[in-house]
Amino acid sequence: MSNRRNFLKFSGLATGSLFVSKPVSAVEMNPIFKMKSGKPAAMKLRFRPYDLQLKHVFTIANNSRTTTPVMLTEIEFDGLIGYGEASMPPYLGESQKSAAEFLSKVDLSSFSDPFEMEDIIQYIDSLSVGNYAAKASVDIALHDLIGKIVQQPWHKLWGLNRTKTPNTSFTIGIDTPEVVKDKVREADVYKILKVKLGRDNDKEMIKTIRSVTDKPICVDVNQGWKDKNLALEMIQWLATQGVVFVEQPMNKLAIDDIAWLTQNSPLPIIADEAIQTVKDVAGINKIYSGINIKLMKCGGMRNAWKMANMAKVLGMKVMIGCMTETSCAISAAAQLSPLADWADLDGNLLISNDIYEGTQVVNGKVILSDLPGIGIRLK
Ligand code: MG
Repeated sequence: MSNRRNFLKFSGLATGSLFVSKPVSAVEMNPIFKMKSGKPAAMKLRFRPYDLQLKHVFTIANNSRTTTPVMLTEIEFDGLIGYGEASMPPYLGESQKSAAEFLSKVDLSSFSDPFEMEDIIQYIDSLSVGNYAAKASVDIALHDLIGKIVQQPWHKLWGLNRTKTPNTSFTIGIDTPEVVKDKVREADVYKILKVKLGRDNDKEMIKTIRSVTDKPICVDVNQGWKDKNLALEMIQWLATQGVVFVEQPMNKLAIDDIAWLTQNSPLPIIADEAIQTVKDVAGINKIYSGINIKLMKCGGMRNAWKMANMAKVLGMKVMIGCMTETSCAISAAAQLSPLADWADLDGNLLISNDIYEGTQVVNGKVILSDLPGIGIRLK
């Protein structure tokens, strides 16, 4: 009590008036918000489609492609612009058309204070049942804007230690042995490789990689294995090959089989296709050892932050993943990466027409930029 009284006395003396505690809105607090017109500032959302060109044909268990459609968003507010992005690989069911339809419905004009994120994001979420990538593009732009208003990057606002960013894995797609070896050599600076399995040449793929490197490998099966006993045998073999975890080994609906695998597996089993957003985390505890959080699946940074914290409380492993994305969505996800056990944030490195720069990978490790917000600028 006496400390507080002294503080009030001294602050009163120092300023010539007593410190009066009264709620101050962000608009009053921050000179950036003082509009020349005297009217409160309003947020304006803009969006445009963009096609990412992939450096290599990208093959997972059930399809191949050379481009990824994205939607680039901006929220302008009182002279500042927050950048966002929706990445929509076709298998997730969103498209530039569905994103445009969704984003056309978004009207931010009734929100005069961008700091009221919980309200704004609840409003965005209420506009449709799905459209998670489109929602993420608004959420990311809003986070970027807020970070720019307060001139701080999100890892700082979240209280995370920037030196604790993990190494990112680098994905080696399914291909002929010679191409796989080339890709592994090309991935020289990465400390950990990610391999897509789930076909009939899984052992050959691992042996091919092992013929050129002894780096740790993460395995993503994309639901490709059909039989739990064969899956367990494969995982036991993978454990002898320097594999560190197995992601989504079987169909997400094979819940009992996956729970059995997790119980018997020598390696952690990570959920990807089986988890969408915050409400799913508690339900898959004990079925999987951990979760792969992706902004495009969960609707953005705010939900990703909630999921990571919930998983930690439940004792689950946390992985931060991505789609093929520009440095915009990758840098947004990277802000959260000091919380993660593993990061798979190579999506921007797989494309040839990135328009942003931000998070870097230096000697395989995620390095956050000093820029505010999500830490990017236009190239
Ligand atoms: Mg996956």
